[in-house]
Amino acid sequence: MPRAKSKHGIDNYKWSTHNNNPYLRTLFWPKVKKGITQAAKDLKIKISDRDIKWLDEFNGQYCKFVPKDCRTYTDHISNKQNRLIPEQLVISEMRKMGCIVGNSPRYSLSNKPGNTDFNYETQLRTLWNFLAMVGSKIAYSSMLILLIEKTIPPPPAVDSSILAACINHKWSKFDTPLTVNGNPIHDLNNNPMRCKESLSSPEAFNNFWAALSNLHMLRGNEGNYLNQCSECNKNYTKHSRKRYKKCNVSCILHPYPTGLVTRNVLLSKLRKDISSSTKAKSHVKIQRDALFPQDILKIHENIEKNNFILEDLRNYVMILLSLDAGLRYDGCQNKTVSNFNNHAKLWKIKDDRIIHLAHSVIEKKDSKAYTYKLHFKEIPKLCALRHLLVYVHCAKLGNNDSQFFPTNIQSSDGNDKSFDAEEMYTPLNYKDLYDWLKKNTGIM
Ligand SMILES: [Zn+2]
Repeated sequence: MPRAKSKHGIDNYKWSTHNNNPYLRTLFWPKVKKGITQAAKDLKIKISDRDIKWLDEFNGQYCKFVPKDCRTYTDHISNKQNRLIPEQLVISEMRKMGCIVGNSPRYSLSNKPGNTDFNYETQLRTLWNFLAMVGSKIAYSSMLILLIEKTIPPPPAVDSSILAACINHKWSKFDTPLTVNGNPIHDLNNNPMRCKESLSSPEAFNNFWAALSNLHMLRGNEGNYLNQCSECNKNYTKHSRKRYKKCNVSCILHPYPTGLVTRNVLLSKLRKDISSSTKAKSHVKIQRDALFPQDILKIHENIEKNNFILEDLRNYVMILLSLDAGLRYDGCQNKTVSNFNNHAKLWKIKDDRIIHLAHSVIEKKDSKAYTYKLHFKEIPKLCALRHLLVYVHCAKLGNNDSQFFPTNIQSSDGNDKSFDAEEMYTPLNYKDLYDWLKKNTGIM
């Protein structure tokens, strides 16, 4: 859900890893390119030209990929402001904010749904911003794995102690000093850093962890995690790749961290400690916002006052239908006329009276469709079927492929209820429905 204020009610918190934090732009990002290129040079690693170009153009910020099939993107192009703008323009506007529309090269092999990729990209961007704040040599070398393209040879793993700092930054009490094992962590200007406390439940780390594990595996760091040996690192930095020697023959460490950092034992222990902490135990899961019958009746009252315009009826049917079959937004959003028509054999119509209809639904993670029966309900105002029939009659829904709940319905003059051809195929935007619900119920 969109938030006007930051989680802790303070805007522009200096230690926030959110991309909108102005301190990132002024204090931390501008140092990133130099820091990263120096780290790459020291480790004899080549960064792609594409990355150098991006860092120059975008002042050192993370390049975030937004897959075309993720909800954020489909919502973004169909919201009220962007609906009438050519898609290409929306894409170039997003680029100005540091986002490239398309599949992420960081995960291009993994073939996951767009929402997962988008989520991972968001997680990795917070890590990028954290590392940019720390701005130490090891922080910059930990950023190499987060670049757009895989470096040659493969980049180091993210350093385990800096990752521990990042975890504490996300978890420890808001605005308290950031420490790891009691040692304070400083930013690149040697100011002691403070915690952001963006997470309140241990489960919230799972996405961050999955994003990191996947990235490490896809970028050549899949074995056991090994910390760097600082002596070996010094030798390695000073000499060429060929002439470099280990600090001593028995040293098993590398000149830079390698392997799957998420399997590091100390980090596993840290995560366990978090799970058994008082904060984790006292965490109460927030219930989803619920709609009660009285809320639905209130919506009904409001749209009645508003002369039952077709747009309101569309939204109301969507809500009633979701409640009737217990659907999430995804189950309703992409509904087409064919989801009803294809199940006409299951409809029951006796003496010209409808007994029940049937429709199919594909939910977010479903691989096949489920069929639901639709009956009349005792209370007319809360009856999905009754409103649906009126809606179908008034909306003159187009052919089988058109959206059942399209973005735009013309209904103001009472006569012309035709759709704009393109909008017939654009499903109603989540944010628009959410705003409408908020306006009509006063809750959420
Ligand atoms: Zn060594």
